Amino acid sequence: MRTVGAEPVFVRTADDLAGIEALVLPGGESTTIGRLARRYGLIEPLRAAIEGGMPTLGTCAGMIFLASGTTGEEQPLLEVLDIVVERNAFGRQVESFEEWVEVDGLDEPVEAVYIRAPWIEKVGGSVDVLARSHDHPVMVRQGSILATSFHPELTGDVRIHTMLLDLIDAADAGEGA
Ligand code: GLN
Repeated sequence: MRTVGAEPVFVRTADDLAGIEALVLPGGESTTIGRLARRYGLIEPLRAAIEGGMPTLGTCAGMIFLASGTTGEEQPLLEVLDIVVERNAFGRQVESFEEWVEVDGLDEPVEAVYIRAPWIEKVGGSVDVLARSHDHPVMVRQGSILATSFHPELTGDVRIHTMLLDLIDAADAGEGA
């Protein structure tokens, strides 16, 4: 985020949300992220911020945490992004891989790094599919929410992070109008 001119801060409490203009929900383990968010009282504040239009990028586990459901067991989710995901859809850790994907709105393909990645099984009507792999959506946008199955932070290509910052500008322009 620093590379694209933003000043990143960690959000650990609901109060931390007040000072930020955009949110990144990173990869990791979505069940752990969800449980910790619930324990620290972050589910409702995050939901309110994102539903209130906060530009948000969820990558991998972050995408799962944003989703309205998974094909597997129940886990705490924000349910703000109208997609159903299949966790670990591409296989186990050893089946992690990279490929070039075409992304809607970008001229050149993106090198996508998948690490025990989810894919998207179902998308709602207000969701635009921006990239696909293995016959499934792997990048989507719904209003000011962007989500990727893959890890755009691992390649040095900042175009997807720039898309997030562009959403801040779009939101600001909308407010001014
Ligand atoms: N497999 C993890 C999950 O289901 C996601 C992995 C990742 O974020 N790289 O939450």
